[in-house]
Amino acid sequence: MDSSPAGTPSPQPPRANGNINLGPSANPNARPTDFDFLKVIGKGNYGKVLLAKHKSDGMFYAVKVLQKKSILKKKEQSHIMAERSVLLKNVRHPFLVGLRYSFQTPEKLYFVLDYVNGGELFFHLQRERRFLEPRARFYAAEVASAIGYLHSLNIIYRDLKPENILLDCQGHVVLTDFGLCKEGVEPEETTSTFCGTPEYLAPEVLRKEPYDRAVDWWCLGAVLYEMLHGLPPFYSQDVSQMYENILHQPLRIPGGRTVAACDLLQALLHKDQRQRLGSKTDFLEIKSHVFFSPINWDDLYHKRLTPPFNPNVAGPADLKHFDPEFTQEAVSKSIGCTPDTMASSSGASSAFLGFSYAPDDDAILDC
Ligand code: AMP
Repeated sequence: MDSSPAGTPSPQPPRANGNINLGPSANPNARPTDFDFLKVIGKGNYGKVLLAKHKSDGMFYAVKVLQKKSILKKKEQSHIMAERSVLLKNVRHPFLVGLRYSFQTPEKLYFVLDYVNGGELFFHLQRERRFLEPRARFYAAEVASAIGYLHSLNIIYRDLKPENILLDCQGHVVLTDFGLCKEGVEPEETTSTFCGTPEYLAPEVLRKEPYDRAVDWWCLGAVLYEMLHGLPPFYSQDVSQMYENILHQPLRIPGGRTVAACDLLQALLHKDQRQRLGSKTDFLEIKSHVFFSPINWDDLYHKRLTPPFNPNVAGPADLKHFDPEFTQEAVSKSIGCTPDTMASSSGASSAFLGFSYAPDDDAILDC
């Protein structure tokens, strides 16, 4: 059993200059001044996500900017390194956000990500309250495909929830936020860190028992339930009551759904992880469930299925799917400044040795 802190990355060889040489790269000396930071588009646990335009290529990116100080205060830099490490490995999956490169200044970490502007699934779900089955099926299938892929790399995602599921400009799913991923978990192996988001915690996580990749299939069940019914499955405003419900209350499925949908929800939200759908042959079991029989998985993976909803964005500057609470916020000038000394190896920055990264076209770099 592995009980190391959530997302602890594998040890990295320290380099004299504090950075790891990752081989040939398109842009090894990235700096904040390379970008015009246009708008705040989101906030996570450690920092902000901004829409930024690269000054030389004119391309738009979502740049996640994290303050090293606040991460160190929370003693959770290992999550950030895990996020980066997972992002590096997953640049090639159609439903996972791509990391272009990352860099650091003495105070901040910058992730340069593909910009995804169809809005959070959460945002659309709140507006429409619930989705019809074909739409929920499409999103659940794209999410399951991404989770199955992560599992094939021995990564547990652990924080699946509507806020982490974005839609691209065509309406396809893009999973973001790899801060809670656990790497290096073999199929039969377990881990035990208590983490996740209350509404979506699996019973074995709540019971603080060792858990395995089946937690992600529980979360898929919780997200599917919320898409179909408008609220998470064991929801209560009182968090301790909700935990009690997750642990002991039988699943109640409101009427009006097909037998296939009810059966899938029961199978994914099985309190005993050994009986849960996905606990034996993982994604294969999910794929073969009758609820997904209308899905051609090969077409789905290649984005040959037309998304059930088109976010209708006019272009990168169209921010209609982002919360005005963020987009109306002033962009702090310090975000786009390049300090004289880049990434000194003392103080906060030494805790993030080897952060700079730029992928080359062919290699997925493992660090
Ligand atoms: P995170 O810290 O990854 O949870 O991101 C916080 C919020 O920023 C998300 O819930 C999204 O609304 C937004 N966001 C994150 N990544 C992207 C991206 N690549 N493109 C557009 N918005 C993003």
